[in-house]
Amino acid sequence: MADYARMRDECPNVTENMKHCTCTYSACDKKGLCCQCLHYHRRNGELPACYFTPEVEKTYDRSIRRFIQSKK
Ligand code: SF4
Repeated sequence: MADYARMRDECPNVTENMKHCTCTYSACDKKGLCCQCLHYHRRNGELPACYFTPEVEKTYDRSIRRFIQSKK
């Protein structure tokens, strides 16, 4: 299992990444670790929270289908 706490301590980009992070899922242990967030969502056929509008983001539906729907 990945040690996200250690990764966060060692990642030089977390502070900058968090300036752009719109994820409201409080239990997420990958917040600010954009590479890990992207890998996780890609494995699940999804996109990271920061791709979505605030209204869609808060539904926690990270599917690519929902992203495309939000762009119509
Ligand atoms: S990729 Fe994930 S962790 Fe990085 S800003 Fe977007 S939602 Fe936040």
